[in-house]
Amino acid sequence: MSLLPIIEIPDPLLRKRARKVRRIDKSVLKLANNMVDTLREAGGVGLAANQVGELQRIIVIQLPEEEARIYVNPEIIKAEGEREVEEGCLSIPGYRGKIIRSVTIRFGALDHSSKRLRIDADGLLAQALEHEIDHLNGILYTDHLRSHDDFYMIEEDHEGIEHTDTRLDDYDEDSGIIVPTTSDGIIKSYDSVDDATKKVN
Ligand code: ZN
Repeated sequence: MSLLPIIEIPDPLLRKRARKVRRIDKSVLKLANNMVDTLREAGGVGLAANQVGELQRIIVIQLPEEEARIYVNPEIIKAEGEREVEEGCLSIPGYRGKIIRSVTIRFGALDHSSKRLRIDADGLLAQALEHEIDHLNGILYTDHLRSHDDFYMIEEDHEGIEHTDTRLDDYDEDSGIIVPTTSDGIIKSYDSVDDATKKVN
């Protein structure tokens, strides 16, 4: 098992477009497998190669109770519907936001054996795929925020219950960069949010 360091904002690699993978060779598979190890260790749902400093179009997804998925050169073919979801990102630790994602997507990719896949997805898988494919294009979930009120810091109290704290001053809408500062006052509790959507990508 090999763990890779996950880069965080404002690392400029998170804003770069990743390059298409021309051939799925040993080095690509090694990177993808290390990304799976890193994702599992971090307890996330998805990870894009940009997040470990590699500008290659590779993403990995780990849904609860499922085998890890490796997708190379993934692309969204069709997206339908709108729904509000809560989202976090391993590269933006300590924060979550409410954004709009698609209800269903159809996407294409190559798997680890270079086989071309075409899959219809909904729920957490669709959300994770949209999030990770965004990463490959240099896009962060914070780019989809419609209001500062939809972006908040997550804090865990001594009982492990998560609370949120609005952080209006810390988010720069133009750059999508957050400048963390200390905060006071827990204003809203989020312990009722569905567990699956609490996972970070
Ligand atoms: Zn992310």
